[in-house]
Amino acid sequence: MKRRIAIIGYGSAGQCAAVLLERDGHHVEVFERVPAPGPVGAGFLLQPSGLQVLWRMGLLEAVLAHGAPVERLYGETAAGRAVMDMRYAGLDPRLVGVGLQRGALFSILAGAFAGHGQVRGGTAIAALEDEGRVLVDGAGRRHGPYDLVVVADGADSLLRGQVGRVRRDRPYPWGALWCLLPAAGWPHLRELRQRYAAARRMVGLLPVGTRPGEEVARLGFFWSLPIAQFDRWHADGVDAWKSSVLDLWPEVEPLLSGLCEPAQLARAGYRDSVLARWHRGRAVLVGDAAHAMSPQLGQGVNMALLDAMALADALRTRGDVHDALAAFERGRRRHVAIYQLWSRWLTPMFQSELDMVARLRDLGLGPVGRLPLARMHMLRVLGGTQQGLFGRLALDEAFVEALARGTARQVQGGQ
Ligand SMILES: Cc1cc2nc3c(=O)[nH]c(=O)nc-3n(C[C@H](O)[C@H](O)[C@H](O)COP(=O)(O)OP(=O)(O)OC[C@H]3O[C@@H](n4cnc5c(N)ncnc54)[C@H](O)[C@@H]3O)c2cc1C
Repeated sequence: MKRRIAIIGYGSAGQCAAVLLERDGHHVEVFERVPAPGPVGAGFLLQPSGLQVLWRMGLLEAVLAHGAPVERLYGETAAGRAVMDMRYAGLDPRLVGVGLQRGALFSILAGAFAGHGQVRGGTAIAALEDEGRVLVDGAGRRHGPYDLVVVADGADSLLRGQVGRVRRDRPYPWGALWCLLPAAGWPHLRELRQRYAAARRMVGLLPVGTRPGEEVARLGFFWSLPIAQFDRWHADGVDAWKSSVLDLWPEVEPLLSGLCEPAQLARAGYRDSVLARWHRGRAVLVGDAAHAMSPQLGQGVNMALLDAMALADALRTRGDVHDALAAFERGRRRHVAIYQLWSRWLTPMFQSELDMVARLRDLGLGPVGRLPLARMHMLRVLGGTQQGLFGRLALDEAFVEALARGTARQVQGGQ
């Protein structure tokens, strides 16, 4: 049945939902707070789970044309002790993750959405009325009624409490500073690399490829910092900060040469949001609005894509909207829960002042990761395919083959 659907938020979840619901013949209207949504933002790691969604959408080739295949996640202490060393090949030799610029995914999804030109930018939705069918924007204007409202307004969702039943919703005390840097000269172009000093300092470098219209391959650069220190960091200026980065990781010096102003680094905070219910009436939460978590496991965009596809699938197969929303939530909840649990446990090991916990991490994570059962579990969590404690999210053989072919083409093309 064709429906009139509003989507609130044009991030990864909202964009992906817009493409899929429009393809299914629904009439889709998108409301976005940012006046002119565009291809900007940091880089992220797409896991096999999220790549499979893009493959099903026919967008894997476009993603591989811009993204950087990532084979290994490697984290070490300043003294060179390996803390984490995981290779996707441990799951399947044909698998990789793909580092991608947010701007590249934005452009690819925008190009696949015929309604992109009609997105209502500069329209922040402040409330929902009439069982979630009517939107009220910040200026008090009403929009709707709609048959369904997809709320994809991100981790800092204003609407979460109006739609879902919130069990936990709190910000993490630590966040990150990030920017994109030219990748030229960096030797680890197929690896996410991290370096730690206890859990107090962490640098991360992720190859994220290019974005449409730009030839320069880039790295996503992350520096961990307590949110309460963001302003002091800004006031202290870049030079003092650079020397503490270089103390931890001298080899990154050439990469940082173009960083002169605090304004060149953006700030990011994260939340831990757990809801007992993701839908009410005609409204449903997807992406970070439904289940924000720390980015420690690199799953948020992947979850957003999986949510959008599961929602479109449920609407296609169920005649009744309420049935479809219940089926969507049931299907996604088991997958999401294990990641929320793990990210809540792991985040203080990497971002906190808990030196003893970091010491145990340095001593224990490597050996635990070499135990066969634990290793498989860790690899599946990493690849986004762990479902509950013992289940698996299946990867289609045709997708795995397509990913292997696309990656091989990139290697031959010298990317
Ligand atoms: C430092 C950092 C690193 C990360 N690394 C990774 C990674 O490697 N891999 C990964 O998978 N994930 C990563 N993530 C997580 C990932 O970015 C998020 O999980 C993902 O962007 C969530 O998508 P979303 O569409 O739900 O929300 P968002 O992408 O936040 O989109 C929400 C949209 O809604 C709009 N909006 C907000 N409020 C309103 C309103 N009231 N009305 C209208 N529009 C509104 C916003 O402007 C925005 O466009 C990282 C996050 C951070 C902070």
